[in-house]
Amino acid sequence: MAVPLDPDMPRALEAPAAELFIESDELRDMAEHVMSEYSEFRAINDAVRESELVIGYAWETKPWTDEEELKPHTIAKVTKASPLWRCFGRIHVAMQFRQWFWDHFDDRQREAVVYHELCHLELDRDKGGNLKVLLREHDLEEFGAVMRRFGPIIPGRRAFIKSYLDWQHAQERPDPVQLRAVEQDGDDA
Ligand SMILES: [Zn+2]
Repeated sequence: MAVPLDPDMPRALEAPAAELFIESDELRDMAEHVMSEYSEFRAINDAVRESELVIGYAWETKPWTDEEELKPHTIAKVTKASPLWRCFGRIHVAMQFRQWFWDHFDDRQREAVVYHELCHLELDRDKGGNLKVLLREHDLEEFGAVMRRFGPIIPGRRAFIKSYLDWQHAQERPDPVQLRAVEQDGDDA
């Protein structure tokens, strides 16, 4: 027996006017650039190249206005395919990127967001040697108010600020003295 349609059915269940997600080669290109550029993603890069790990890439086309709260994954996110969805398709992981932000960001910002999303992926093997994909949580969840009141006195937060200071230092001194290289030159001489 057919279930009658409820006239009060929420709008979200109606067919959308346009596709919310569109597959994106541009996002794929950026992600493949990032995973080959940074050695911390070597395992992911290898698994992708060997087609052991299949990542799908999509724009999320929903427009953004500044009335919407900017939460950690408003701009982009990764989702692992459930065992049921794995049964229907080849994709292990989907990366989505809000197209509005992509259009307003420069390449460096896009790269940083994609880098962030790739940091969520952790690869492991089961006893049979099959690839397992795990999703990693963020290093840090914090309130801006704690930082304003106390500064980085809680250990995990201190490590985060230290990372920022290391980055800042690297910007001020773009060509650090390569001590090891100098020593090696000395050995060769
Ligand atoms: Zn994240």
